[in-house]
Amino acid sequence: MNLILLGAPGAGKGTLASYLIEKMGIPSISTGNILREAIKNNTPLGQQAKGFMDAGQLVPDDLVINLLKERIAKRDCKSGFILDGFPRTIPQAEALDEIANIDCALLVDVPYEVIEKRMTGRRVCLRCGATYHVEANPPRIQGVCDICGDKLVIRSDDQPEVVKRRHETYHEQTEPLIGYYDAQGKLKRIDGTQGIRETEKLAVEALGL
Ligand code: AMP
Repeated sequence: MNLILLGAPGAGKGTLASYLIEKMGIPSISTGNILREAIKNNTPLGQQAKGFMDAGQLVPDDLVINLLKERIAKRDCKSGFILDGFPRTIPQAEALDEIANIDCALLVDVPYEVIEKRMTGRRVCLRCGATYHVEANPPRIQGVCDICGDKLVIRSDDQPEVVKRRHETYHEQTEPLIGYYDAQGKLKRIDGTQGIRETEKLAVEALGL
């Protein structure tokens, strides 16, 4: 299955993706994680993306479309993939339709008030991409990644002002994708406010897994 996870930044797409990787046996691709890794390694892609990301804006379409194309051409995507954070604009969705058949766009629905609270507690591992929350989903040892043992950090774009800007960006540029996939008959919607296990359960039901 080729699956898109839709939803505002902080809706829980990354956490749900980690679960679905195991459940479905296909990889998850987070353009945000690929870009953060590029910034960490100071690659040309990272240098181009950093200013946009720190300002809570989207990275230009051509950059992310190219990196996504390269990524889904890899062998591990042959029997399907989960997209977390792509597409984020209509042109990205159109570019994706040209290179892959999307089976389903699953919207993880969470209102902004809930998201604001969540994002200030978010901690991420820059090495393996795992995400945690200080209250809702803490690591076994505070500040240390359960999976790879690297130090957990607050993402630079999880600062309150940037969180607000990212939400506006979502509202203006990404929300129209809900209508785009609905019109194709591919949209499924789940309530993402009920906690991690419940969201996983709703996703399993919605996807018929
Ligand atoms: P995320 O980890 O998905 O929340 O992405 C973090 C940041 O990376 C976003 O706020 C954007 O600046 C950038 N980014 C990630 N995916 C995309 C995309 N598909 N299109 C444009 N910018 C993106």
